[in-house]
Amino acid sequence: CGICGVVGLRHATPIVLEGLRRLEYRGYDSAGIATLVDGRVERRRAAGKLDNLASLLEREPLAGKTGIGHTRWATHGAPTTCNAHPHGTQRVAIVHNGIIENFETLRQELEAAGQVFETETDSETIALLVDYYLQQGLSPRNSALKALKRLEGAYAIAMIFAGHEGLMIGACNNAPLAVGFGDDELFLGSDSLALAPLTRRITYMENGDCVVITPQGAEFMTFDGTPLVRPVQITALTA
Ligand code: GLU
Repeated sequence: CGICGVVGLRHATPIVLEGLRRLEYRGYDSAGIATLVDGRVERRRAAGKLDNLASLLEREPLAGKTGIGHTRWATHGAPTTCNAHPHGTQRVAIVHNGIIENFETLRQELEAAGQVFETETDSETIALLVDYYLQQGLSPRNSALKALKRLEGAYAIAMIFAGHEGLMIGACNNAPLAVGFGDDELFLGSDSLALAPLTRRITYMENGDCVVITPQGAEFMTFDGTPLVRPVQITALTA
């Protein structure tokens, strides 16, 4: 039900966790964070309150400067730790708000191609679809775009990729997602509230937008890869 992500020079986990706390008002049943540690995807997830995730992170800290986090309001699959986002493989981690309407078709196709599912969620199909294209040798950007073109439903998504420090890809369709611009760091959030203490410079994404984010900037495009110009707004919100 909420997404927060960061790429930059600082420790990502505390930034993402604080962002998730500001999204708690939306309601949720579980939460999780994934980061890149020495280029590898690492994640921590917990059912229940964000405090459960926070204490897990105290016991098992999560380093890394590229990170995505999620508060889940389960629609497909019980609110368990296993079904909590981020989902992914050793190549990619994703968080998703919304519903993928055609997930059953995609899941069958991916299973036939040898992909192994670990959860009951619709969201995991996004991860395993992107992973499938990565395995075929496509770049993160092209894998993401190719996967996005196949998704039906409402969604806001954030992804990070093993071996690609400082890269985050976002996309949305009928679900809100905003890009925040900091100094040498960029953010993704479900709304400007999530990003309020981090930056006032925000771009609200539109339906069918994809964004490729690095600490230096954001490139907006359609799912066909056609560049888009999106305005930066200065929000009046303060934390
Ligand atoms: N449909 C997804 C799930 O059940 C995402 C739910 C959400 O928006 O939090 O895992």
